[in-house]
Amino acid sequence: MLPPVKKNRVITRLPKCFSAGAALHTKDDFNHQIKAVCHAQKAAAVSFNIAKVIVVGDVAVGKTCLISRFCKDAFYRNYKATIGVDFEVERFEVLGVPFSLQLWDTAGQERFKCIASTYYRGAQAIIVVFDLSTAGSLASARQWLEDAMKENDPSSVLLFLVGTKKDLSSREQLDQMEQEAVRLSEEIKAEYWAVSAKSGDGIDDFFLRVASLTFEANVLAELEKNGSRGIRDIIKLTESTEEKHKERKKKNNCC
Ligand code: GDP
Ligand code: MG
Repeated sequence: MLPPVKKNRVITRLPKCFSAGAALHTKDDFNHQIKAVCHAQKAAAVSFNIAKVIVVGDVAVGKTCLISRFCKDAFYRNYKATIGVDFEVERFEVLGVPFSLQLWDTAGQERFKCIASTYYRGAQAIIVVFDLSTAGSLASARQWLEDAMKENDPSSVLLFLVGTKKDLSSREQLDQMEQEAVRLSEEIKAEYWAVSAKSGDGIDDFFLRVASLTFEANVLAELEKNGSRGIRDIIKLTESTEEKHKERKKKNNCC
C-alpha cells in the first residue's frame, strides 16, 4: 500500500498563477464539470490520474535542482551533469482524487538531444527552464520548446516558461528579464514563473499549479474523448443527487 499523500500536496482550490499577464488562464477555481466529476468520487477509476511532464532547457540552467527542491526538498550546490534522462514521480490529491506527476529531467547537452527527444513523446506539460541570471538562456528557450513540440500535439500540451536562480538576480536584472520572458510567454502561449531552487521561493506554488492545470486538462480531455457518456452520467447523477438532497432539506424545513 502506498503511504498517504503529503499534506502540502493536497489541492482543494485552484492555485493562483504567477503573473496574470502571462498565465494559461486566470480563473480562480477549477472548471465546474471537473468538480462535479471529482465530487462523484468515481474519477479515480478513469485514466487521467497520471501526467507526464518534461523539463527541458540549456545545460546548468537549474532543471535538476528545480525538481530536487520540490521532490526531495534538497538543493545541490555542486553541479552534477544529468546523464540522458531521469524521472521522479510526485503524488498529489486534487479535489479528492489521487493524481501523480511524472517529472522527466533531461540532459541539456547537444549529444543527449537525440536520446532525450524519444522521451518527449506523450507529454501533457512541457516546462522550459532558463536562468534568470544569464541573459542568453532565454534566447534558447524557444529552440528547446520547438524540439519538444516536434514530438507532441501542440493543442494538448500545456507550456510553462520558468526562470530559475531568482536569488542571484538584482531587482533591475529581474525586471528586465521578466519583461522579455512575459513577452515570450505570450507568444508561445506559456505560463511564466520565476523561482529559486536555492531558497525554495515559488517552487511549491509552481508545481502545485502545474499539477492542478494538468489535472484539469486531463479530465477535460477525458470528458471530450468519451463523448463523455460515462462521465456525463456521473455529473448528471451528482447534480440530481444534490438537487434531491436540497429538495429533501427544504421539505424538512417546512414540516
Ligand atoms: P541542469 O543542468 O539544468 O540540471 O542544472 P542543475 O540543476 O544541475 O544546476 C546547475 C547549477 O546551478 C548547480 O551548481 C546548482 O547548484 C546551481 N543552481 C540551480 N538552481 C539554482 C538556484 O535557484 N539558485 C542558485 N543560486 N543556484 C542554482
Ligand atoms: Mg541536470
